[in-house]
Amino acid sequence: MDIAIYPGSFDPITLGHLNILERALGIFSELTLLVAINPNKEPLFSQEESMEMISEAISGLPGAKVDFHNGLTVDYAREHGICTAVRGLRAVTDFEHEFSMALTNRSLWADFDTVFLMTKAEYMYLSSSVVRQVSQMGGNVAQFVPPCVERRLREKFGHA
Ligand code: ADP
Repeated sequence: MDIAIYPGSFDPITLGHLNILERALGIFSELTLLVAINPNKEPLFSQEESMEMISEAISGLPGAKVDFHNGLTVDYAREHGICTAVRGLRAVTDFEHEFSMALTNRSLWADFDTVFLMTKAEYMYLSSSVVRQVSQMGGNVAQFVPPCVERRLREKFGHA
């Protein structure tokens, strides 16, 4: 089955995430962007806010869906009959974490595999945390995120 999930914190979704999503839709006919709670990260946006922004950002992309899950990604995947996750890889620093997570997920469910797509060079240093920091300090993040996210960030940090 050519369906997959793209799990992550997406706090907030960036153009780097969207680039991975668009390219993955060239491989899979349906891709669910799964907003997952990371217990080690205090989120800036609530799950509802993230879902709203993502829904708007992916509205023009046939086959793209959004959902959320509080728990193990493999549990969500198994419940929905999805055996594949998509993840993005930036610089070498992403590799070790992604490698251990992919192997851990497969030891939790042997049928579950992870497909990695390399970042587009211009998004190599783009992360949600950099976007949050720049925006908090009043910087313009229009080149990093879709317009709906840029607007929400300005509201969140009280910038005009
Ligand atoms: P998580 O907390 O699960 O790492 P993120 O939202 O930070 O969630 O990232 C989700 C996925 O998207 C990860 O696989 C990450 O490597 C990838 N990703 C994040 N930013 C980029 C980017 N600029 N280019 C390519 N992949 C990215």
